[in-house]
Amino acid sequence: MSLEHTHFSPSPPTFHPTPYALCPLCTISELSLAGLPPVDPSRAREPALLLPCGHLVGAKCWTLYSLQVPDSEPVCCPLAGCRTPLTFPVCGCAFEPHPLRGKGRRQ
Ligand SMILES: [Zn+2]
Ligand SMILES: [Zn+2]
Ligand SMILES: [Zn+2]
Repeated sequence: MSLEHTHFSPSPPTFHPTPYALCPLCTISELSLAGLPPVDPSRAREPALLLPCGHLVGAKCWTLYSLQVPDSEPVCCPLAGCRTPLTFPVCGCAFEPHPLRGKGRRQ
């Protein structure tokens, strides 16, 4: 498990920024997208995580979700109808979703 190896980074999926998105897991929190001000300041906010399948989820809900997945199962995209395994296919290491940041945005 601890052998040195590198991960071929999957190229990020095409990301279509939306000005306003709710966390699909709790459907309560507004996703905090990089550099964008809150649309509804009265709502709770979660940092948005971009999954390799292209879905956005709230970081808090993602943490809760991933902790519930048994060790014997791969962590998959929590969205019904997607369920993309979030592991590297060759070595099986878990893929860590990236928080969206304002830097390095593709033109
Ligand atoms: Zn949430
Ligand atoms: Zn997905
Ligand atoms: Zn690995």
